[in-house]
Amino acid sequence: MVKAKKKIGIIGSGSIAYMIALELSVSSEDEIFLIGNHSNKGASQAAGAMLNILSEVDIYNSKLPLMKWKLTNRDIVLQYWKEIEDTLDNYRMYDFPLIYGKGTTIKLDKVSMNSFEQESFNSMRNAALDHSIRVVNRSDEKFNYLDIPDEQSVDPNFLIRSSINKFNKKVNIINKAVETIKKIKKNYSVTLENESYNFEQIIIACGAWSDRIIRNSPDLIQPKIKSYNDVGTALLLSSEFPHKEQPKIDRIFRTPNRGGTCGIHSVQRCDSVYIGASSRPTHVDMKYPIASSINALISGTQPIVGIDAHDLATDIITGYRPVTEDSYPIIGKLAENVWCVYGTKRDGFTWSPYYAKEIVNMILERESNHKKEWEEILEMCSPQRDFNSFGEVGFCIDAFVNSKKAESYQHNIELTEEELLVFRNIAEETHLKMEKRVGKQIGINPDLIKILNFFN
Ligand SMILES: Cc1cc2nc3c(=O)[nH]c(=O)nc-3n(C[C@H](O)[C@H](O)[C@H](O)COP(=O)(O)OP(=O)(O)OC[C@H]3O[C@@H](n4cnc5c(N)ncnc54)[C@H](O)[C@@H]3O)c2cc1C
Repeated sequence: MVKAKKKIGIIGSGSIAYMIALELSVSSEDEIFLIGNHSNKGASQAAGAMLNILSEVDIYNSKLPLMKWKLTNRDIVLQYWKEIEDTLDNYRMYDFPLIYGKGTTIKLDKVSMNSFEQESFNSMRNAALDHSIRVVNRSDEKFNYLDIPDEQSVDPNFLIRSSINKFNKKVNIINKAVETIKKIKKNYSVTLENESYNFEQIIIACGAWSDRIIRNSPDLIQPKIKSYNDVGTALLLSSEFPHKEQPKIDRIFRTPNRGGTCGIHSVQRCDSVYIGASSRPTHVDMKYPIASSINALISGTQPIVGIDAHDLATDIITGYRPVTEDSYPIIGKLAENVWCVYGTKRDGFTWSPYYAKEIVNMILERESNHKKEWEEILEMCSPQRDFNSFGEVGFCIDAFVNSKKAESYQHNIELTEEELLVFRNIAEETHLKMEKRVGKQIGINPDLIKILNFFN
């Protein structure tokens, strides 16, 4: 029997929404709508983007169940990227590979005063051993290096434009903001500015804006965990002078995570070299980048990337990473036939083909090839979950103070004992506030302590 065509609405316009649309467009005959305003604050467009899994390990997150899950299931997503590359092979607009370069090289300055960075470098090495990930250790007089050959990069704009080429009118793209979702009999009505659309199935993949849409839609399950913007800024370097060659790198060069920020990383895009990225979780809809972040990125360019930025032009891009209160994504069902995936913070681009494949399996009621793994992540990331603890409270408080030290170091500032005590007090106070709210002691991710202090 021929299945009746359904109308499926995907809300969002970042990498996750596009990868879901791509997966649906190649695997179903349903009517697909992608509804999202293509604002210039989307995280995907501001991402490097590195396919970063081992290179995201740091001293604090290495023990988290979610990080262990990612390291264990790393090959699944890297394989999915190869499939995406094949699917889009004839739809690229430039002669540029979709998956670029010789992988990732982590650089650790041998005389770095940043102990966070050193310990994170060691955590990556240990994680590579524990999970049998192929890496190369080497050094010269200035740096220790860790090469991760299979963590390459993808230009996000190139990916999105190639996907649109591939859709060939199979996906209806509506460049508008969604306000609410209402249940009407068995279907859902999605309200935009002056119009509405009815769908049988909906996926909310709208990054940092998902939370607002869900809170405006009382027919949906309301997650206990809120989400915020983690504002990130990066530079795009290119040359406009005939005497200055276009900058070019053959792989990702990066520092380990530096606590509070992602350190410095550089990625070759189709037409520029990307230098990222700052990190600032906030509820404020920031319009402009923070000046000191730009300064930190420019001063890291020569030592970490080896590019002389003198005479190069720079475009500045800013995006809102979607970050939840416990730093785990929110993935799962919000009602019968409504799913969501958001809150992916620093690596949602990397995991977008994986989330897309599995969400589409659920929508189309297809069997997953990785059912057990998907069920594990659904449990950790359920919209109905309680707060995931980041670890022991004392550990999180120390981690916050140390991450502030490391963050200041990136901005060439050394904190005094009094300043460190102020940070310790903030961390202790926030943990007490959260204990009161949640009804038990929980450890908070150091990156989120300040914002949770403000809101609780
Ligand atoms: C500076 C920076 C660097 C990063 N680097 C990396 C990296 O190297 N590797 C990696 O894996 N990840 C990286 N990330 C994280 C990654 O970008 C995100 O986790 C991921 O892209 C999130 O994708 P998304 O589709 O959920 O959200 P987004 O890409 O934010 O897309 C959401 C979209 O929804 C649209 N929208 C807003 N309001 C509405 C509305 N009301 N209705 C409909 N649509 C709306 C927005 O315009 C936006 O385009 C980085 C992020 C930033 C900011």
